[in-house]
Amino acid sequence: MKMYYENDADLQLLHGKTVAVLGYGSQGHSQAQNLRDSGVKVIIGQRPGKSADKAQEDGFSVMSVAEATQIADILQFLLPDERQAKVYQEEILPYLHKGQTLMFSHGFNIHFKQIIPPDDIDVVLVAPKGPGHLVRRVYEAGGGIPSLIAIHQDASGQAFEYALAYTKGIGSTKAGVLVTTFKEETETDLFGEQAVLCGGVADLIKAGFETLVDAGYQPEIAFFECCHEVKLIVDLIYEGGLSRMNYSISDTAEFGGYNAGPKIVTEETRKAMKGLLSDIQKGVFARNWILENQAGRPSFLAMREQNADHPIEEVGKSLRSMMGFIGK
Ligand code: NDP
Ligand code: MG
Ligand code: MG
Repeated sequence: MKMYYENDADLQLLHGKTVAVLGYGSQGHSQAQNLRDSGVKVIIGQRPGKSADKAQEDGFSVMSVAEATQIADILQFLLPDERQAKVYQEEILPYLHKGQTLMFSHGFNIHFKQIIPPDDIDVVLVAPKGPGHLVRRVYEAGGGIPSLIAIHQDASGQAFEYALAYTKGIGSTKAGVLVTTFKEETETDLFGEQAVLCGGVADLIKAGFETLVDAGYQPEIAFFECCHEVKLIVDLIYEGGLSRMNYSISDTAEFGGYNAGPKIVTEETRKAMKGLLSDIQKGVFARNWILENQAGRPSFLAMREQNADHPIEEVGKSLRSMMGFIGK
């Protein structure tokens, strides 16, 4: 596996070029600001509304996606995945021209063929492996979030060099850039967020909290043990791996952890993970998510509401309000 770093990438390639960041949300605002601070010319393609106002306040030139498509050399798709195909058909395709680059931060729409671009444009992936707000925060602190890079179409013969230059612009070459494919990025990203990062962790936290509260312990104590401390533990793992966590925690916690882990993540859990992966690979998850959106997101919105009402959220909110050092 080859990793690319600062000296491998040439930011000069982007001088004289215009990058249109389409969407000014979580990834959009951070990638746009990082690129601008790296000396790249950035415009924002965004429908009117809150995000557009924010981009304007942040000093960017904001226009419609269609206008941005006519001007820009590189179009970075940072719209919600489920809206990208429609915006592409209506506002991008009519103005797309030879020599342009379509860039994505998640391979969903290309891999699952919701967007099929013409042959004469470059189609690349630059996917920072971290939440948008960290992409900005870490860059401001002088670092970068690692990124994945992939090439779907190389019409210019220079698609890779441009994509690599872009990763440098957002700070990723400080941390390391890995080459992947749209297929690998899409499938592993969906799996990671479902099995571990978002689905797995959230339900582990809730189940631990509920177990303690149901047994009669104070919700505040349950919150600190099963939710608040997750960050402290994850920070140790992030800094120095599982061994650093084990070094820092008590031997009691380490012994208990070795015994308990396999009882929580059982053969059944692993089977469920394989099932999730298989649904992702076969396109079952993608189809469900596309249909859910076409139907107006009834089950998504119901689950969102149900989770927002979980007692852990209420306890957490009031405890956090007393910890002034936790940023908004
Ligand atoms: P967000 O939902 O945070 O932001 C989307 C932006 O697109 C908003 O500014 C929204 O503005 C705008 N938008 C929505 N619909 C339209 C439209 N029809 N026309 C123009 N603008 C529109 O998205 P994310 O940043 O989370 O995701 C963007 C991409 O990055 C996705 O492909 C995602 O998979 C990928 N990604 C995201 C990560 C993350 O940290 N969130 C991590 C890695 C990859 P408005 O206010 O008007 O709705
Ligand atoms: Mg994702
Ligand atoms: Mg403890």
